[in-house]
Amino acid sequence: MGKLYICGTPIGNLEDVSIRLLKTLRKVDFIVCEDTRRTIKLLNHYKIKKPLISYHEHSKKEKEDYILGLLMEGNEIALVSDAGMPGISDPGENLVKRAIDAEIPVEVIPGPTAAVSALAVSGIDASSFVFVGFLPNKKGKRREEILKLKEEKRTMVFYESPHRLIETLKDMQEIWGEDRRIAVARELTKVYEEVIRASLKEAVSYFELNPPKGEFTLVIEGDKTEKEASLEEILREVKELIESGINRNEAFKIKAREYKLRKSDLYKSFIEKYDM
Ligand code: SAM
Repeated sequence: MGKLYICGTPIGNLEDVSIRLLKTLRKVDFIVCEDTRRTIKLLNHYKIKKPLISYHEHSKKEKEDYILGLLMEGNEIALVSDAGMPGISDPGENLVKRAIDAEIPVEVIPGPTAAVSALAVSGIDASSFVFVGFLPNKKGKRREEILKLKEEKRTMVFYESPHRLIETLKDMQEIWGEDRRIAVARELTKVYEEVIRASLKEAVSYFELNPPKGEFTLVIEGDKTEKEASLEEILREVKELIESGINRNEAFKIKAREYKLRKSDLYKSFIEKYDM
């Protein structure tokens, strides 16, 4: 049995490779990649010559069967995408799942990813975040998705293309409010790298003056508005959480944090009201 290596590759700067990545690319029998022209650039830079197999979003099941067959015959294969980590808004996920199902050893060679790099440089709370990736192309569906995330408390990370950026920012501004903080990370690790830290309103104005070019990752703070509710409503929400199966202590913790109350006060009122 061979082995499948999931390899992270640079998101721009070709020097963002690890020694282990280069060793792996040098030792494998094949490299499975998205666009051979992109991968050849990286390989040429490090003078690596390997047979390439193209595998992309529209690859058929037969292509996966062929790659899995090579692995079962004992070949070692590196899986790369055009940039960053395979499987993260990139092809690879299905191949990895099928390799795991077939009990083929799978190992990760970690590398750069635009989402985590943008989060790290954003200056926005990174203690807990949601990776959303690309929003739907169609306006209606996109707005629906943005609406669903209106009360998301955690920081959110999105990928966006330059020609949709302004429209997406405007939708976010309209649905989430103009003051929400955002970091727009553009062309990270490349010559024209820039990070715009602003409110949604300021970001829209900036890009209307400076038409977006290049690759963009958006990091946006979660909903910070304080919810208002009567004690009665809060206690009912605690009860609903407990009834939905959430650990009792956790339910008090969640609601106390949400409404900025002391957990012990909430607990006391709850016992008085529900005697449970
Ligand atoms: N697999 C990749 C990863 O791990 O980051 C993401 C692939 S996805 C098809 C490509 C998107 O990632 C771009 O449209 C952009 O939103 C974001 N991206 C990639 N490189 C970037 C960079 N250098 N700076 C900012 N965003 C980038």
